[in-house]
Amino acid sequence: MINLNKDSKIDLHIHSNASDGTLSPEEIVKEAKDRELKLISLTDHDEMKNTEEIQKVALKNNIAFLPGIEISSTLNGSLYHILAYGTDNSNFELIKLLEYNRDLLENRNNQSIKYLIDKGYDIDFSDYEKYKHNPKRGGWKALNYLIDKKICTDIHDYFNRLYSEEKHILYPIFSDTENVINTIKKAGGIAILAHPYYEKDISPVDKKLNIFLEIGIHGVECFHPNHNQLIISECLKFCKEKNLISTAGSDFHGKFISTRSIGYPVAKIKDVYVEPLFEYIKR
Ligand SMILES: [Zn+2]
Ligand SMILES: [Zn+2]
Repeated sequence: MINLNKDSKIDLHIHSNASDGTLSPEEIVKEAKDRELKLISLTDHDEMKNTEEIQKVALKNNIAFLPGIEISSTLNGSLYHILAYGTDNSNFELIKLLEYNRDLLENRNNQSIKYLIDKGYDIDFSDYEKYKHNPKRGGWKALNYLIDKKICTDIHDYFNRLYSEEKHILYPIFSDTENVINTIKKAGGIAILAHPYYEKDISPVDKKLNIFLEIGIHGVECFHPNHNQLIISECLKFCKEKNLISTAGSDFHGKFISTRSIGYPVAKIKDVYVEPLFEYIKR
């Protein structure tokens, strides 16, 4: 049994090469060990392919592990990520939901490529369909295809130049946030609102988080690299007042998002309220 205490460092939001991160389970655990983390969670986007493997490697290295998934959802036309912890991953409805989300993203990628072809870019759809995405590079298939075809240089160039052109092909409409929360609950898991202030947003913390509280969220990811100190403390205060779980994550993606590191922002068990998650932690 791995011993956790109030000073144990945690990171409950990490991506691997099963979604858009660049590192393998082994490489992630090595980084986590270097940062002296005692509890980690893998939360790939709509994917749980690497969960079993990283759990094994983490436990072998004396790091406790919380199984997780980051699920895309839509509320009032906006995209919200919901972290699902401790779900039964053989649950039929959960598997269907993840498949549905992955299909939506694939269709969105196909649309982007077709749009750029219509715009006169020198690429070919059947060539794109045959293209093999190398998950070690991070990102996603359409992005890496466009980089290899020299249509854009990297993710920044993609978002600054190409994405602004094809912006009218909106993000897919994912499953409704309340439905995602209910699916997580039916699969026996805990639903946490990921990074509520991922993008610049001036709406007050109370107002924003209450909306999610009303549709049944169990907690909020308070520590996140995109949250400043003020946002972190206001989110923590809200969770405390409402008796919600509060969590911390780095949203690490390996080299794909090079500004982020495992274990940052630094958070210890005493800085958050994760005790209700303990029953799901493998150690
Ligand atoms: Zn996210
Ligand atoms: Zn994430």
